[in-house]
Amino acid sequence: EVKKETLGFQTEAKQLLHLMIHSLYSNREIFLRELISNASDAIDKLRFAALSDESLLEGQGDFQVQVDVDKEANTITISDNGIGMTRDEVIENLGTIAKSGTAAFLENLTGDQKKDSQLIGQFGVGFYSAFIVAERVEVHSRKAGQDAASGVVWESRGESEFSIEGREKASRGTSITLFLKEEAKEFADDFRVRSVIKKYSDHISVPVMMLKPQPPQAEGEEAEAPVAEYEAVNEATALWTRPRTEISDEEYKSFYSHVSHDFEEPLTWSHNKVEGKLEYTSLLYLPKRAPFDMWHRDMTRGLKLYVQRTFIMDEAEQFLPMYLRFVKGVVDSNDLPLNVSREILQQEGAVESMRNALTKRVLDMLSKLAKKEGDDYALFWKEFGQVMKEGPAEDFANKEKIAKLLRFSTTHTDAPEQDQSLEDYVSRMKEGQEKIYYVVAENFNTAKSSPHLEVFRKKGIEVLLLSDRVDDWLMNHLQEFDGKALQDVARGALDLAADSEEEKAEQEKLQKESEGLVERLAKVLEGQVEEVRATARLTDSAACLVVGEHDLGAQMRRIMEAAGQ
Ligand code: ADP
Ligand code: MG
Repeated sequence: EVKKETLGFQTEAKQLLHLMIHSLYSNREIFLRELISNASDAIDKLRFAALSDESLLEGQGDFQVQVDVDKEANTITISDNGIGMTRDEVIENLGTIAKSGTAAFLENLTGDQKKDSQLIGQFGVGFYSAFIVAERVEVHSRKAGQDAASGVVWESRGESEFSIEGREKASRGTSITLFLKEEAKEFADDFRVRSVIKKYSDHISVPVMMLKPQPPQAEGEEAEAPVAEYEAVNEATALWTRPRTEISDEEYKSFYSHVSHDFEEPLTWSHNKVEGKLEYTSLLYLPKRAPFDMWHRDMTRGLKLYVQRTFIMDEAEQFLPMYLRFVKGVVDSNDLPLNVSREILQQEGAVESMRNALTKRVLDMLSKLAKKEGDDYALFWKEFGQVMKEGPAEDFANKEKIAKLLRFSTTHTDAPEQDQSLEDYVSRMKEGQEKIYYVVAENFNTAKSSPHLEVFRKKGIEVLLLSDRVDDWLMNHLQEFDGKALQDVARGALDLAADSEEEKAEQEKLQKESEGLVERLAKVLEGQVEEVRATARLTDSAACLVVGEHDLGAQMRRIMEAAGQ
């Protein structure tokens, strides 16, 4: 047997622990949600591993989480019969923070305790939340499939170090005991703990068991030895398998916090059972707020995949395109094999069809939201508009649908809020106007005061004011909407129709008069510009630079320069 060993926490883990212990009090009960969710994850992992190696179950396939409280000892213990951990895994998983998310978590702290404690789950640093309520934590674990002697105990006071030693464990899985702080002794109370479990873990698909409360014994009565009997405290059916009509909004919302780790309510959701050639159920949610890592390459995205109600994997990215990476939820398929892997997912024809259908679902959910009264869609656009703008490039087939969901700021309002749709724009087009005009600039103010707009303002023609990084990219791929070409006002020749015969005559006169000047300027600027032209596009400014019809847009050039090209 290996003797007791003391090890130090990794620096980031230490920082996080310090924070847990000293500043996050306001929402203490979430520790239970985090530990039960880990227990349920561990069971999911074993269930999955047992599909290819049944011996791992050791003949015991009744999965459950057990919660025991002890008022006298002031402890709460959460046990599971899931996959368990080896000694090395315990050190790796509970002593370091391998995820890049943690640094970001620490950066994102607001100093507002309530908000910060709610960030915990979102950043996947759940286990350490035990130290919000515990002065000491003991983890006893044994990996499924290994012998009892390989059991291991991890113990820490959450300061700078933890100890680890071997200790036999007869049953597989993990048991976590929290020695509660004096001010957290409410969590050794049966009634209190039951209510927290119901609140957070009702929809978890494994039962969470607690001792049945004993009826009070009348004094003097001969006490029969009470038999310890456990009962499930939570509902324990996978929510998405139940009929829509029987699920309350509260249950949908609570399930959302389970799949997303988001502390806010979802903006909306869509729950569907598909039957026919392909059979699957999906439950998709739109979050209210963008995750902190939406622009990281390795952001957690994708749906939870189940096959016939068996959990297969988190972050199944194959079921939605990149530009819908903010969608959370589950998909449960009856057609995929239980031993499906990420590699197989990439080749399965069924996945392709499901992806197309789920993409449509999300786009429909969005257009419904956009039509709804109130400002939910504006909220959505503010958080996720930039990502939606990647859509037309990635998803050509749904280009028109996506285009209808786009929102812009335009000269119609001259305000920075992106709240005008292309349909709005088209409905306001001038008679004889054939194109949708836009200007791209570094920021909103530059766009709004661009000299290229002078003639449009004079003629009362609306122009989209674009200043997001992705806008040039978007326009390159969108190209047209409702049969109308999108035209950059700073590119090539403008073919604005003259309003009247007089105006036309004036323009022709201008061209003639300028011939000499244009020729001289072209000589002076030779090699620096491609062409000098007299123009009607300016009313106040003397001259402006125009990009050729087929050259890179100003923004694309800036992006390429920044990339060193
Ligand atoms: P997350 O659950 O987001 O991965 P946590 O901090 O909650 O982060 O847990 C860290 C890791 O510790 C988990 O990923 C898992 O590998 C391991 N772990 C925690 N609890 C258990 C458990 N009950 N059984 C097995 N492994 C566990
Ligand atoms: Mg966790």
